[in-house]
Amino acid sequence: MASILDPASLNLKVGFEIHQQLATSSKLFCNCSCEEAKEYGSSFVRKLRPTQSELGGYDPAAMFEFSKMHTVKYQAALGSSCLVEADEEPPHDVSKEALESALIFSLALNSKVMDEIHVMRKIVIDGSNTTGFQRTMLVASGGYLDIAGKMVRVQSICLEEDAAKLIGDEKGVRKFGLDRLGVPLVEIALEPVTGKPSEIMQVALTLGRLLRASKRVARGLGSIRQDINISVQNGAVVEVKGVQQLDQLIKVIEHEMHRQYGLIVISQKLKEKNIDIKKVGDRIEDVSDILNNKASSRIVKRILEDGGHIIAIKVPGFAGMIGFEPYNNIRLGRELGKLVKFYDIDGVFHSDELPNYGITEEEVIAVKQRLQINDNDAFVILGGPNDKVKFASDAIIRRLRAAVEGVPAETRAATPEGSTVFLRPRPGVARMYPETDMLPIPITDSILVSVANKVPRQWDELVDSLAKKYSLNMKLASQIFDSDYLNVFEEIAGETNIEPTFIAAKLTEDLTNLQRQGLDGSVLTNNEIKNVFKELDSGSIPKESVVSIFEKMIKGHKCEKCKIGNMRPEFASNNTDSKTGRVTSQIRKYKCDNCGHGAIVTISNEQLNVNEAIKAVGASSISDEELSKGLDRVISNNMAIIREKGANALSTLMGRAMAEYRGKANGQKVNAMLKDKMSKMVNK
Ligand SMILES: [Zn+2]
Repeated sequence: MASILDPASLNLKVGFEIHQQLATSSKLFCNCSCEEAKEYGSSFVRKLRPTQSELGGYDPAAMFEFSKMHTVKYQAALGSSCLVEADEEPPHDVSKEALESALIFSLALNSKVMDEIHVMRKIVIDGSNTTGFQRTMLVASGGYLDIAGKMVRVQSICLEEDAAKLIGDEKGVRKFGLDRLGVPLVEIALEPVTGKPSEIMQVALTLGRLLRASKRVARGLGSIRQDINISVQNGAVVEVKGVQQLDQLIKVIEHEMHRQYGLIVISQKLKEKNIDIKKVGDRIEDVSDILNNKASSRIVKRILEDGGHIIAIKVPGFAGMIGFEPYNNIRLGRELGKLVKFYDIDGVFHSDELPNYGITEEEVIAVKQRLQINDNDAFVILGGPNDKVKFASDAIIRRLRAAVEGVPAETRAATPEGSTVFLRPRPGVARMYPETDMLPIPITDSILVSVANKVPRQWDELVDSLAKKYSLNMKLASQIFDSDYLNVFEEIAGETNIEPTFIAAKLTEDLTNLQRQGLDGSVLTNNEIKNVFKELDSGSIPKESVVSIFEKMIKGHKCEKCKIGNMRPEFASNNTDSKTGRVTSQIRKYKCDNCGHGAIVTISNEQLNVNEAIKAVGASSISDEELSKGLDRVISNNMAIIREKGANALSTLMGRAMAEYRGKANGQKVNAMLKDKMSKMVNK
């Protein structure tokens, strides 16, 4: 089994479509703030009724998607949404600030700006837009991104409104927050490139740097979303959504390369078998009665108890092929398992893995008899509520038939670990209509001339000036520039006397190391980070303890229920003193990003998390008195060395003292006290 594939011989092609949130003072079509709502005050309910043509002429996936969604509930917060988001009022003029950003990026990418910009409506049917469409406008087309002399062509640059934020999807009610609806996004589509995954990653890195260099984009997790189109020779284009980090990007490309080539290997084997794919699924039998005899499989038992039924689908000629695994974890069975999840179906089994999971050999034989199949044939079993089973079994039959062709064109989602899972079939070309509420926007030469002055300097020039300003080496300067911590770094460097090099190293190298240990630094708020450095600046904690305090604080954000996810702040409301107006305490709601477990915490302020962490790692300075006693002990334990070396024994004693007090006391203070004590002794 070859495990390393050569991207060049597979003709791996990767195209990027990045969506970058802009940092603007208002939304794209109204004056509301782009800030995330701390809490929602009001809500309203809508039922969207897309027409048949909007559903893509009865596209089965779209029909199912729509059938799941009975009601949409929108939640609104004062300040972050208004009548425009509620679709009660026509859109206002396009934000000049957002349009200017899109023009700046167009010029920076050598793209040809349109003479006139037309606002269009792009149909969306998932409820993420109150209007049923997303407003988008083509700003420029063509151009290129220069990556160390290699030109990557730009297809298009669009300015569009972000969708509402999905906050819940239960029992036919889908909930969205309106605070994100209408936030301006720039969408940049690049032509597909070839190369090794690490080389392709450079494209995303360079584009991200170009955008950040403008200082006009939002930063932080979720502010940049990359959709990537991946294909290999003789395959189809697969769209992967939701890639947020560069190391994840490399893994996703490698995973897709193996998955897609693996599917081609499977298709070649199927072709050799001369299977008549029209016969896949030509026989489907209800086998609830067979599996009900023992009902030893937990999943089967639950489905039947819930009133569902179990069916078996005949798959002629596929024996051994559904479980066949050309590469690690790449097999048709796995594809089917992820596919049925889209239709809310849990249990799917296939004959290559049975008997297993509580399904016995006798039951397998009975299912085969019911389907009248022989040893060359396979079968798939699935169960659930009747309506969903119908949708899911149709999808399974289509998927198995497509297996002979190789790679199906579909939309997949990236997992945090860098693999991909089925999301939905690829939608057809998006239907667009002109936005009748808005006039075209002419882009004159004088507008372009004024914008040209604002095109940002190159990334390397900016890193260079950052390095000079804070006396950082180039490596550290580029790391901090590329990180999410540039702003907080500049604030800390400006407000404290701590060496900028130390701050930058903690915020990049040390937080990256914690990340490698599986600790997600993004759960720390900027204020929490800043407060730790302020403690250091005031001398109340030693330098050595900064990383362990960060570690403790991140762990403090772990979910106590699933023990896997991180608790992320959702809403906060302040309790204020009615006389002074000062914030006395804060009630915060946290939600686990893995299991959804919620917790409400009242804290005095963000300082509290810091104080707790400092206490927990024992980093709070011990009193001078305690330290003095401890150092006396170090001295009396090392008298022999002092007698021998005199004042030169200081470095040895310092080492022994810090072995005991690292993370508890300031090194400079320990040094000064030791020196003082020893000089008194030596002079005696
Ligand atoms: Zn608004």
